[in-house]
Formats: sequence, structure tokens, C-alpha cells
Amino acid sequence: MAVAAFGMVAAAVLLRQAWANHAASWALALLVGLALASCAAPASVWLIRRAAPEPPDGADAQAAQLAARQVELFRAARQDVLTGLQSRIGFLDTLATRLNAAGSVALVLVDVDKFSRLNGVHGDGTGDEVLRVVADRLRTMAGHRDGAARLGADEFALLLDRPEDLQDIKHTAAALQRLLSEPYPAAGELLDLTVSLGIASAPQHGQNADALYGSARFALQQTKKAGGNGWRICGQDHADVLRLRDKFRDVLSAAIDAGDIVPYYQSIVRLPEGGIARFEVLARWKHSKLSMLTPDQFIPLAEELGLTGRISMALLRQVALDTQDWPQWCRLAINVSAGQLRDLIGFFREQPGDWQRRMDLSRLDVEITEPALVRDRAMVRELIDALHTHGARAVLDNFGCGYSNLFHLRDMDFDSIKIGKGFVTTLLDDPRTEACVTAMLSLGQGLNIDMVADGVESPAIAERLSQLGCNFAQGFLYAHPSPASEVRRLLNLPDTNSIQATLATVQAGAA
Ligand code: C2E
Ligand code: CA
Repeated sequence: MAVAAFGMVAAAVLLRQAWANHAASWALALLVGLALASCAAPASVWLIRRAAPEPPDGADAQAAQLAARQVELFRAARQDVLTGLQSRIGFLDTLATRLNAAGSVALVLVDVDKFSRLNGVHGDGTGDEVLRVVADRLRTMAGHRDGAARLGADEFALLLDRPEDLQDIKHTAAALQRLLSEPYPAAGELLDLTVSLGIASAPQHGQNADALYGSARFALQQTKKAGGNGWRICGQDHADVLRLRDKFRDVLSAAIDAGDIVPYYQSIVRLPEGGIARFEVLARWKHSKLSMLTPDQFIPLAEELGLTGRISMALLRQVALDTQDWPQWCRLAINVSAGQLRDLIGFFREQPGDWQRRMDLSRLDVEITEPALVRDRAMVRELIDALHTHGARAVLDNFGCGYSNLFHLRDMDFDSIKIGKGFVTTLLDDPRTEACVTAMLSLGQGLNIDMVADGVESPAIAERLSQLGCNFAQGFLYAHPSPASEVRRLLNLPDTNSIQATLATVQAGAA
């Protein structure tokens, strides 16, 4: 039995490799593998039994379980558990196969508008119900079994085989939009939702699966930028912008490698006295021709291009160098956006041995924004666990300005909350703002965690915050983000040039 199962998996793998050029599907390979294995198994069992001593009791059963588990994992990786549609992995394979076979296909990406808000307001269970209905509707639209897939949280795909012409694609897009905008039965009521679509067709917008997906994704982003609830087909202007994005990716990538993305530091002080407690690390791009670029000018695009992970690592490396002689009490807060969560978990889980030599990870605070939290709660929870394993702390950033779901605070073990600037700058102008800030502070007191007010620009605001019970503040009143050299002066540390000069003198003396 074990040999049969192993035979099946091995035959499937071998067939898949051998037939890769003919685009044989995994499913077909598995079926053929199963047939081969069922014939070959008795003979191979006999041969193995002749050649090897009898296996210990239970070894066969264990091996069979392992093989069955492999098949199960393989199937699970290709199928989305929640909706039963193909997963991203399975779908990209199908797309490649169809492109080889049919040449002309159109790819429609579907994104549910404001899905995070739906999850935040109605809860994850309702969100799941809606996703299942989207999947059912896509299944009806897809002519064949592999024509629809769930690619991410609320991102789906539909494959149109051999569309007749542009008119045909437009007709299908409009019909799909109508179908997906019908009310959704979920949580015992009918919910009104809209969707955004992005469409690209091969060969014009991409001749392989990656290129076609990139074009459809771009069209989808254009629909989103125009306010959602609509559809766009990739056009020549898209191709031009895609080329520009590729250029930007090259330039930013080179800047990361050259060390041009640097950390700036802004102090966070204790209230009421104003003594420095820690520094927030804020990214800056030291561009040779433009002036210093701030994060909002490059982080969102870097996130779309998948470069934020590399930016974080480059920043952390520089922070480790900059801060090695800063006093131990001085903590460092780094920012993480949704696209960086996985990289940061990997960093805390896999790299610490190496990094602990360079930097004390327990000195780190990681600031997580509400949109990141809403996008992937499970991953945020995993990150917080990883942080706590190393004595690092988790901060809920910009609280009050995103989704402000109290479930997040109840279920996640945050060590600190940062009240967003939107509430702090207008604190004295509006009694309703003060009521909200008071409520947030009492929440922090109840949970027994640090409360930091961001965007403090005047002594009067600092004083009021202190009276309301806020224990930390950050803002232009105390300091603007500055390079490490200025922080060294603030901390009364010798500047790095003089350290290097001393080192050079010592080394010269030793030689
Ligand atoms: P944030 O996390 O809210 O960071 C604070 C931002 O507020 C900083 O802008 C800071 O310069 C600004 N600020 C501080 N005090 C005041 C004040 O009193 N008044 C006003 N009006 N603004 C103040 P910056 O450096 O431009 O950063 C913008 C955002 O970019 C940050 O917002 C953070 O979300 C993001 N960011 C910065 N560095 C990184 C990074 O390395 N990775 C990621 N993912 N995001 C980053
Ligand atoms: Ca922050």
C-alpha cells in the first residue's frame, strides 16, 4: 500500500516533469500515476521484500500515511479551502496551460470593494459567507471547472477561453459586473456590495502567465483608483505605465542596494516631563538628483512592486549600525505595512541568531497600522507572537484613523497604542475630538498599556494630553525626524566621524 502511494506521487512528479513542455496538467499526471502505481505496486513490493529485510511493524503504515499526507498537501495547495475554487498556485498553472494550448485567453481579476470594511463591521464569519457567494457566482460564469479561482483574501480570477473579440470581452465584463453586484445573502440579511474588475487579454497584454497577470492587475488598480465599482481593460497607456513602473522598480532596487534608503529618527517623549523614551525609525530616500524623498512618495509604490521587504531589511541593517552605542534604555520603533508582515515574521523567526549579534531585538517596537491588521489578522497575530518571543513589542499605529475595531484590541496582545495625528492636532479645537481621545486613553488604561499621542505640535496640546492621562508623545513640538548624526548630538554621543578617526589612529598606531 505504501509503495503504491509513493509510486503514485513519484509517478505524478516524474510525469509532470517529463510532460512540462506539453503542459500536461497535474491532475492528469496524478491519474496516470495512480494507474501506473496500482499495476506496479504488487511487483515492486515483491522486489523490495526480496531485496531488503522485513520492515519493522508499522513502518509500511507510516510510509503510507506520509504519502497520503503528501497527496493531501499537494491538493490543498492547489485548492482554496473556503470556496473550493482553485488557489493562486493552481490557477497560475492552469493559466500557463491555457496560454500554451489556446493562445488567446482573457484574464479577469475581481476584487470586492471595501471588503476589509465589511469584515471589520460585520465580522470575519460574514466576510467568509460573502466570499463563498462570490465564488459560486464566478463558478456559474466560468464555462469550465478550472475557469475560476480565488487568488487572495478578496481577489478572484476568471478565465475566458478564446474570446471572439474585444466586444465579446466587454460584453462578458458587463454581465459579470451585474452578476457580482446583486445583493449578497449573508448574516441573515441582504448586503449590497460592489466589485472592481481588471481585464487583460493574451497575446496583446502578455504572452506568459506572469505578464498577463501583471497587466490585469494593473487594469484592476486603475479601476480601484477611479473609485471602484467598474471595470477596465488593459490598453496601450497601461503598457506605457507598466514600462515606467518597471523603470521605477529598477531605480528603487538600485537605491536599496546602494544604501540610499536611510533611517531618520524622531523622538518619542515621556509626558509630562518630556524626557526621551524611544525613537521612531522613518524611511527617507537620499536621491542624488531630487531632494530627500519622504515615505509617502515611495513606500506605497514600493509595496505594489513587492520591494518593502528589502527596504525594511536595509533599514534594519543601518539602524543596527547607527544605534550600537546608543544607551540601552532607548528603544527603537519601526513601521510595518501590510505587504511587509510576512518578511518581518520571517526575519524574527529565522534570522535572530545572526541579528542578535548585531542588535538587541528586545529593544524593538514594531508599529502595525489598522489596515495591515484588517488585511490579515492571522499574520499580525503570528507577528506579535514572534515579537514577544524575542522580547520585542507590538504597537497599534494610528489608532482611531482606520477601522478601530475593538476586537483587535481584545484579541491581540498589543503593548502600546498610538493615537493618530488626526485626533491630536485638533484636540483643543473640538470637544468631540477630546471626548474620543479621552475614551481611547481610558481604553489604554483599562488594558494597562502605553498610550502615545502622535502629531503633538504645541505645549498646550501636550499639557492637555498629560492631564487626560496620556503617558507618551511624539511630534514637531519635541523634534522633527533627523539623521542619526543629529540624534548622537542629542544623546551627547561622540559623532561617528570622530569615532572613525580615533579607530584609524589606533589602527595606524598598531601597524
Ligand atoms: P506614521 O507612522 O504616522 O509616522 C509619523 C509621521 O508623522 C512621519 O511622517 C512624521 O514626520 C510625521 N510627524 C511627526 N510629528 C508630526 C507632527 O507634529 N505633525 C505632523 N503634521 N506630522 C508629524 P513621515 O516620515 O513622512 O512618514 C509618513 C508615514 O510613512 C509614516 O507615518 C509611516 O506610516 C510610513 N513609513 C515611514 N517609514 C516607513 C517604513 O520604513 N516602512 C513602512 N512600511 N512605512 C513607513
Ligand atoms: Ca508609525
